[in-house]
Amino acid sequence: MHFYSTRDPNRCPVPFREALLSGLAPDGGLYLPERVPRAEAAWREAQTLAALALPVLGPWLGGELGAAQLRAVAEDALTFPVPLRALGDGVYVLELFHGPTLSFKDVGARTMARLMNAFLAGRGERVTILVATSGDTGSAVADGFAGLGNLRVVLLYPKGKVSAVQERQLVHPRPGVRALAVAGDFDDCQRLVKAAFVDPELRALGLSSANSINLGRLLPQMLYYFWAVLSLASRYGETTPPVFCVPSGNLGNLTAGVLAAEMGLGVGRFVAAHNANDFFPGYLQLLYDPSAFKRTVATLSNAMDVGAPSNFERLHALLGEGARERIWGTSVSDAATLERLRATYEAYGYVACPHTAVGLEAAARYRAASGDERPVIVLATAHPAKFVDTVEGALGVALPKVPALEALQGPDAQAPVIAPQLGALRRALLSPF
Ligand SMILES: *Cc1c(COP(=O)(O)O)cnc(C)c1O
Repeated sequence: MHFYSTRDPNRCPVPFREALLSGLAPDGGLYLPERVPRAEAAWREAQTLAALALPVLGPWLGGELGAAQLRAVAEDALTFPVPLRALGDGVYVLELFHGPTLSFKDVGARTMARLMNAFLAGRGERVTILVATSGDTGSAVADGFAGLGNLRVVLLYPKGKVSAVQERQLVHPRPGVRALAVAGDFDDCQRLVKAAFVDPELRALGLSSANSINLGRLLPQMLYYFWAVLSLASRYGETTPPVFCVPSGNLGNLTAGVLAAEMGLGVGRFVAAHNANDFFPGYLQLLYDPSAFKRTVATLSNAMDVGAPSNFERLHALLGEGARERIWGTSVSDAATLERLRATYEAYGYVACPHTAVGLEAAARYRAASGDERPVIVLATAHPAKFVDTVEGALGVALPKVPALEALQGPDAQAPVIAPQLGALRRALLSPF
């Protein structure tokens, strides 16, 4: 199995290990395989999410990791349930938020961390993961990589620009993880990360990234698409290929779904559910060309506030113009998000997070526009308790306390504040922790 960069006309292939440990190709492109492998038929027999790793991820690794090692990686990473719930009227939610940091990002981050650790352990190497974060990614990466011997994590977040819950999740003490509060905004954090990657003085640290362009995070997300189709049949006796509706920002989640379909999973259609950051739905509707990336707009579903989706390049390389047949897209305003949050609670007694509400609204629009009556599975990407103010405000009810968040209460840990300059980051990275 080999991978090449979306930008490399010569298609110089690298093995999985290199794609995993470097994240981005040297030319700035994203890694894709020479061709998407088929899932092994045994996936239909899987009884757990982790048991899907061998038939679904195995073919991508091409033997670079043994079957026993891959199974151990998945079993250690995927320790939480992923229930499929029927809301009614053929609409289902796949709850991906029962992991330690309460968002679907736990699936990719935890699996990627253990894959990296398994590859590094064989060679006695160490790597430092450097991540700029404005929300869910940072805590999922911090939790996912904590305590793994061959990896350390440094998180950069913009001081005063993340929510109180998010900051508590980020600075929560974990072995091998250090959070740094940058006196600047998210763009400063991203600029510092880019500068650090090319800084000769930091080369010895073996810096790597953990964002959603890394195949190590993307590919494990395919597992829950397979799991959803299995659950639909076993729990609800429904064998029609479902429509998957995906609340989207960087398009990592959606790209994973498309890859699952390319592996042979029966999928009716994909719906890309975006907030006011509408580049991708606009592209699908022929309003924008591929280079028409936009500035980011702040919304209630802030984990999807992305003007220039980083996985678009990969999706475009995979599907080209065919994307417009396979994927239907829409952009949902904050007002429509709140309305759908309330309507879902009133109709089904179900409490969704704002991101999931964008998905539920998009699913309703898709059905109305297309007349497609196949089952729709909306990916529920975060726990509503992570967005307690928005959700309680919209519904006028108090949400039950969630143990994973309660555990973070108490005297607030403080992250050291650094100036938004490479010199300050360099000093912090080179000091031991
Ligand atoms: C990251 C995130 C998304 C967007 O996922 P992408 O893979 O970036 O498209 C949606 N919802 C939540 C809660 C997230 O944390």
